[in-house]
Amino acid sequence: MKQCRLGGLDRFRPVAALLVVAIHTGPLLSWSRDVNYLLCDILARLAVPFFFAVSGYFLVPELRARGVSALLPFLKKGLLLYGLSALLYAPINLYSGYFSQPGLPLELLRDACFNGLFYHLWYFPAVLLGGCIVCLLVRRLRLATAAAVCAVLYVLGLLGDSYYAFTNAIPPLKAFYEALFQCFDYTRNGLFFAPLFLLLGGWLAGRGNRRADGRYAAGLLLSLGLLLAEGLLVKQFHLARFDALYLSLPLCIFFLLCWLRGLDLPARPQLRRWSAAVYLLHPLCILLVRGGAKALGLSALLIENRLLHYLAVVFLSGLLAAPFALVPRKRPEPERGRAWIELDAAALRHNVNVLSGLLPEGCALTAVLKANAYGHGDLECARICQKAGIRSFAVATAAEGARLRRGGVRGDILVLGWSGAGAVPLLRRYRLTQTVASPEHARLLDRCGKRLRVHIKIDTGMHRLGTGWDDAASLRELYTCSHLQVKGLFTHLAASETCSPSDQACTQAQIRRFWHAVETLSGAGLPIGALHIQSSYGLLNYGPLEGCGWVRTGIALYGLLSAPQDHPRICPDLRPVLALRARVAQIHTLEPGEHAGYDGAFTASRPTRLALITIGYADGWPRALSCGRGRVLLHGQPAPIAGLICMDQLLADVTEIPDVRPGDTATLIGRDGDAVLTAEAAAEAAGTITNELLSRLGPRLPRIVGSEA
Ligand SMILES: *Cc1c(COP(=O)(O)O)cnc(C)c1O
Repeated sequence: MKQCRLGGLDRFRPVAALLVVAIHTGPLLSWSRDVNYLLCDILARLAVPFFFAVSGYFLVPELRARGVSALLPFLKKGLLLYGLSALLYAPINLYSGYFSQPGLPLELLRDACFNGLFYHLWYFPAVLLGGCIVCLLVRRLRLATAAAVCAVLYVLGLLGDSYYAFTNAIPPLKAFYEALFQCFDYTRNGLFFAPLFLLLGGWLAGRGNRRADGRYAAGLLLSLGLLLAEGLLVKQFHLARFDALYLSLPLCIFFLLCWLRGLDLPARPQLRRWSAAVYLLHPLCILLVRGGAKALGLSALLIENRLLHYLAVVFLSGLLAAPFALVPRKRPEPERGRAWIELDAAALRHNVNVLSGLLPEGCALTAVLKANAYGHGDLECARICQKAGIRSFAVATAAEGARLRRGGVRGDILVLGWSGAGAVPLLRRYRLTQTVASPEHARLLDRCGKRLRVHIKIDTGMHRLGTGWDDAASLRELYTCSHLQVKGLFTHLAASETCSPSDQACTQAQIRRFWHAVETLSGAGLPIGALHIQSSYGLLNYGPLEGCGWVRTGIALYGLLSAPQDHPRICPDLRPVLALRARVAQIHTLEPGEHAGYDGAFTASRPTRLALITIGYADGWPRALSCGRGRVLLHGQPAPIAGLICMDQLLADVTEIPDVRPGDTATLIGRDGDAVLTAEAAAEAAGTITNELLSRLGPRLPRIVGSEA
C-alpha cells in the first residue's frame, strides 16, 4: 500500500460519516421530500459500503499474507468497539423496553449477530462476520473465485432488499427469504452486504491505478448517476423491502476508491478516528439534541427545522468525537519518510506457489533468506513464506538463523556458511542446522561436546566450501564426530546460469559426482538425510532432479534474475517483490553553465531543474550509477541521475518532467504508473548483478509490507 494513497481515503471518511448522519436525520426534509430522498436516502447509501471497502483495503492484503493471524486482531478490535458501543446504548435500550420483550435471549442473539444491538450498530456484526467470510474465501480460493462468491451473496442480498418485489412474485423464493428473515431483519448484514465491499477494497489495495485519474472521476460521476436512476426506479415501482443494497453501489465504490487513491494526499489517521467516533456517537447526539431542544422550548428551531437539526447533531457529534482525533497513535506505521522499501507480499506468495508447483511430490522448496533476504527484509519475507507453506529456510550465518527463530520461524533453518565454535550456543539454542565443510570443521564443532544437527557440504567442482566428492576417507571421517547428527548432504552448482554446452557438461559432472558421494556414504550404511543440489538457476535450467528433497531458491523467490540477459530454460511467471522509493526534498533551478553536486560533476547545458532525492550510497544505492548511468522514476517518467551520488542523497534531472515538487515519491526500483525500473537493469548499469545490488540495501531503509509494491 502506498501511504500517500491513503490520504484521499482518510479525507472521505468524515464525508461518509456525515452522510450516515444525514440518512438518520433527513436534513432536507423540511425543504423538499424528493431532494432529501435523492441526496440523503439514495446517494448517502455510499457511506457504509465505503467504510466496508476501506476496512477491506487494510484487512484483505493482510489476510492473504498472514491468514487467520491477521484476522484475530481485526476481530478483537471490532468486538471491543462493538461491546463498548453496545454498553453505551444499553440504557437507551433499557428505557425503550428492549430488555423486557418476549423471547429476549433469541432476540439478543439475532441482534448481536446480524441486526446490531442498537439500530445503527449493525455495522459491527456486519464487518466482523464479513471479515470472517472474506478470510475463509481468500485463504481457500483464488481472488476471482472469491469475488464471484461475494457477488452471488450480494445478489441474494439484493433480492431481499431493493428488489424484494421480484422475490415476492416467486412463491418458493419468497418462502426462502421468509425463512431467512426469521434469522435477521434485513439482508443488509455481514452475510450478504459486507463481503463484496470488503473484497473490493482489498482487491484495489493490491492493484495500482491503471488509468488517468480524470477517468476515475468521470466513472464516479457516471456511476453515481446510475445509482440515482436506480434508486428512483426502485422507488417508482415499489420494488424495495428496504433500500440499502443497490446494483450500482459496487461500481460507485470502485470508482470512488480509485479516484480517492489518485488524489495522492498524505495520510490523516486522526480523521479515521474522528469519523468512527462521529459514526458511533451521532445517535446519542440525536437524542441529546431532541431532549435539549424540548427542554429549552426550541423544538421548532432544532427539531422541526430539519437542516438546523442536522447541523446541531453534526456539531455535537463532531465536538464529542474531537478528543478521539487527538488520542496519540499507539503503533506508528513504518515510516515512508525519506527512503523505504515496499514489499509485495502477494508477489512473494505467488512466487512460492509457482516455484513449489515446479517440484515433484516429496521435494520441498527451501527459502534462502541470507543477507536479510537479499536485502528485502528477512523476517518480513520469512513470515510470508511460512504462511505460504514453506517449512525449510536457509541463511548464511548462525546469527541470521537466530534472528529468524526469534522472529517466530518454525521448521528447518540451515546455516549454509561456515560457523566457528563460538556459534555453537546459538546453533543449539535456536535449533539451527549447521553446514559442515570439512573434517577439521567437523572436529572443531564436535569438540564443543554438544549435539548439533548438520548437513554435509560436498565439493563437486566449485571448490568453494565443502569436502571433496571423491575423498571417501574424509567424508566417512565426518561421521565419526559423535556429537554431529547428519541430517542432509548437499552441493552447490558452479555454472547453472546457462545451458551452454560447456556449462551443461560442468553441471552434469557435478551432479554425477554428488550422487557418487551419496552412494559411497549410503553404501557404507551411513545416514544421509535430505539431499539437495540446486538453487534458483539450477531449477530453472534443469528442472527438478530426481531424488532431491530440497531445492534452495533465493533470487527466483524474489521474482528476479541475476542479470537481464539471463534466459533460463523454464521461465515461470515470477513477480518482483521489492520496490525501492525515496522522497523528493527540494527542487533546484540551474542556469546553463551552473554546476551541481560534489566536484561540480553535473553541468547544466540548458535551463535545468534538479530534484534532490533523499537516498544515497549508504542506503545501498551504488555510486557507480552517478552521472546519468542510473535513473529514477518521477510521475511515471524516467529522470537521469545528475552528478555524483552522495552518501545520503542524490540529484535527478527533472527538466523534462513538469510539476515535480518536494514531497513527491521517486521510484528507484519498481513500478510508477506505466513505467518500470527493474532491479536487473539497475544492477547491470552499476556493473554488478541483482543479488549484490539488493543484498546491499541498507538497514536505514524501513521495509514496508503491503500487497502492492
Ligand atoms: C545463496 C545460495 C543459494 C541460493 O542461490 P540463488 O541463486 O539465489 O537461488 C543456494 N545455495 C547456496 C549454498 C547458496 O549460498
